[in-house]
Amino acid sequence: MRIRIGIMGYGNLGRGVECAVKHNPDMELKAVFTRRAPENVKILTPGVKVYHADEAVSMKDEIDVLILCGGSSTDLPVQTPELAKYFNVVDSFDTHARIPEHFDAVDGAAKENGHVGIISVGWDPGMFSLNRLYAGAILPGGHDATFWGKGVSQGHSDAIRRIDGVKDARQYTIPVESALEAVRAGKNPELTAREKHTRECFVVAEEGADLERIEKEIVTMPNYFADYDTTVHFISEEELMRDHAGIPHGGVVIRSGKTGWEDENSHVIEYSLKLDSNPEFTASVIVAYARAAYRLNQEGQTGCKTVFDIAPAYLSAESGEELRKRLL
Ligand code: NDP
Repeated sequence: MRIRIGIMGYGNLGRGVECAVKHNPDMELKAVFTRRAPENVKILTPGVKVYHADEAVSMKDEIDVLILCGGSSTDLPVQTPELAKYFNVVDSFDTHARIPEHFDAVDGAAKENGHVGIISVGWDPGMFSLNRLYAGAILPGGHDATFWGKGVSQGHSDAIRRIDGVKDARQYTIPVESALEAVRAGKNPELTAREKHTRECFVVAEEGADLERIEKEIVTMPNYFADYDTTVHFISEEELMRDHAGIPHGGVVIRSGKTGWEDENSHVIEYSLKLDSNPEFTASVIVAYARAAYRLNQEGQTGCKTVFDIAPAYLSAESGEELRKRLL
């Protein structure tokens, strides 16, 4: 029997999960839930229906894992603990500082009701976190560095859009190549925010807007741009649609460390992602963890987990025997 997947929330990530399910023959999409009017939400999978979010609980026996695709700021802190009462759940909660409290809330609800909830799955948090853990365990006493990009930051793009006179905007975070090379060479440099990343903004201004003022407001914006070297390009709406419609992202996690009695040997571990579509890749990671959530629950496990708690073989559709033969 295939693993029956439900999707709660149909934005970029929800659509990505739908595509990822299509690529995993051991899974099937059972239903999509939305808080909007279901008839206005068009999905891609033939024969699958969109329901209102309020109907989800009544379908709990038809869904093995519910994947939560809402936003981290206000949706997931409420939805994940609530729905973990009725379903095995997976989310991509990415507000790093609030993960401990989110974990506790989901753990309580999932344990009490006999479900598994896997939180903060994706690439950061997610695959990057896992690679930091592996590298740190292997090279204790070493040094970590994470670089993000080149990629679109939704938060920074939104911040520009809120400026008076701005119609639309896209912000790219770009790693500084020389800093990246120094870390790769194991030099362990002390780097400020400005030395690690630059920010490039493509802005569509309202007609007649004061471009000089907009540029100044962007580059001096505290927390977002003031601590970085920021370039601003004003472009037309057509150029934005044509050249900047995608949601690419990526980055690298690097750890350098030493071994040998006198620390005579250096090692560098690097995990790198170059993603054409941030939500589609994030969704692909989530779907692999949905398989793990299902299997763990079948074994009788309950409670909240993160990527740190899941043994890798649980992610794969192949059996342990196949994996040992092919990949060990
Ligand atoms: P979106 O803004 O596209 O979607 C979030 C929710 O908005 C949807 O689930 C949808 O819920 C609702 N929504 C309301 N109106 C619309 C509309 N007109 N069109 C589409 N959706 C609408 O966010 P993303 O899907 O891009 O990202 C979701 C979360 O994923 C982010 O907040 C982030 O926290 C996380 N993320 C995590 C990553 C990681 O590595 N861990 C990486 C990337 C993202 P509804 O259908 O109920 O209205």
